[in-house]
Amino acid sequence: PTFSVAEIRKTFLDFFASKGHTIVPSSPLVPGNDPTLMFTNSGMVQFKDVFLGTDKRPYTRATSVQTCLRAGGKHNDLENVGYTARHHTFFEMLGNWSFGDYFKRESLKWAWELLTEVYKLPAEKLLATVYEEDDEAYDIWTKEIGLPPERVIRIGDNKGGRYKSDNFWMMADTGPCGPCSEIFYDHGPHIAGGPPGSPDEDGDRFIEIWNNVFMQFDMAEDGSVKPLPAPCVDTGMGLERLAAILQHVHSNYEIDLFQALIKGAGRETHIEDLETPSLKVIADHIRATAFLVADGVIPSNEGRGYVQRRIIRRAIRHGYKLGQKTPFFHKLVKDLVAVMGDAYPKIREQEARITEVLKVEEERFFETLANGMEILDSALAGGAQGLPGDVAFKLHDTYGFPLDLSNDVARERGLSVDEAGFHAAMEQQKSQARAAGKFKMDRALEYTGAASAFTGYENLEDTGAVV
Ligand code: ATP
Ligand code: MG
Ligand code: MG
Ligand code: MG
Repeated sequence: PTFSVAEIRKTFLDFFASKGHTIVPSSPLVPGNDPTLMFTNSGMVQFKDVFLGTDKRPYTRATSVQTCLRAGGKHNDLENVGYTARHHTFFEMLGNWSFGDYFKRESLKWAWELLTEVYKLPAEKLLATVYEEDDEAYDIWTKEIGLPPERVIRIGDNKGGRYKSDNFWMMADTGPCGPCSEIFYDHGPHIAGGPPGSPDEDGDRFIEIWNNVFMQFDMAEDGSVKPLPAPCVDTGMGLERLAAILQHVHSNYEIDLFQALIKGAGRETHIEDLETPSLKVIADHIRATAFLVADGVIPSNEGRGYVQRRIIRRAIRHGYKLGQKTPFFHKLVKDLVAVMGDAYPKIREQEARITEVLKVEEERFFETLANGMEILDSALAGGAQGLPGDVAFKLHDTYGFPLDLSNDVARERGLSVDEAGFHAAMEQQKSQARAAGKFKMDRALEYTGAASAFTGYENLEDTGAVV
């Protein structure tokens, strides 16, 4: 059978509800309980305090479809968008949790049951990884579930250090942690890439679909671990990756939901070839930026707002690359509402506002985009050295080109940006501004005669010198 994205979500939640899980709604992209985390980047974020023991819920089993953003912060997949078949900035994560209830056996068996009996994935195309030392998970896969040993791959400390591993999960430097087991799907030998643990594992042939994390230990400051009194399970599966398999396509961008957005992007940019890479980037970015607005993030020059601005401007630049000279991006909000508004009514309710916020940002960037691109193009035409840091900084400072946008353009041409030079130029400008600011403040103090009456900050802000 082929499943639509809507059917995949419902099937997942229904399955875990039938196994005694409470269905919990997605939390917003801005975490409510963690100021240190930029964005919700997995389904467990809203349960973090439950794992830490500082929050209690009326259930011990939960399931959700969580909107996630991996752009800025600890997980950043912005640079993968447009380059891999499987990464988005914004995506939906299907998850199930046990808070001191069931553990490895149920988790892995249910995952297998759901994938092979409900979604009916061909078992012979599935592989699993386990943490090297996790014999328990290895035995469940090979002896109880019956996955052939050659398709259960042990991954050790492959990230340089004890417990630094793709298959060892840590919430932070200390606290809950444990091994994980990941399920992969083999899209076939016609796609480049090797199995997990091999040198070319980063290809798009063997795609990781589902991570099962077993929170089993409590890590102390010195890196030693002791068993948690009540082990927990935290799982996450990428909806779009599963959809690609179930809809018999390879890339996430070929699934029903993305095709609708790509079509919209093609319409607004007058591009007929829907394989055009920039259309995929635009389709990815309209989801991220529209959901960010819905969750309260407005473009700005710092923090979350700056990530929002960077994603919007990247999308606009891709439109410009396709020949757009005037705002187009905000017109895709309606396409997004059409494909995601039922699952997320907030984007339908806020459609007008989202459109307006994106439009304002777009109009603003279009004022400088063409001139900035001219500078960027001629600097890159220079050839092999890539983009000099001072030019990147000028583009940033005067034309509103975030560094990663200039990088994106350079990378398309096989070049890079001198980032050290960029930061040096920025530091230099800051210290000049500080010096000028100090001069002004001294003068302000001089004129008013007393610190208690000084108006220096206002004066400073007027000049913009401290920004
Ligand atoms: P990858 O190795 O492919 O980057 P990951 O190991 O970083 O994935 P996890 O943190 O284990 O991913 O997240 C759980 C699941 O969420 C993954 O198995 C995958 O299906 C999905 N996922 C992770 N990152 C993305 C992304 N950027 N876009 C779409 N789906 C993703
Ligand atoms: Mg990743
Ligand atoms: Mg991974
Ligand atoms: Mg993973």
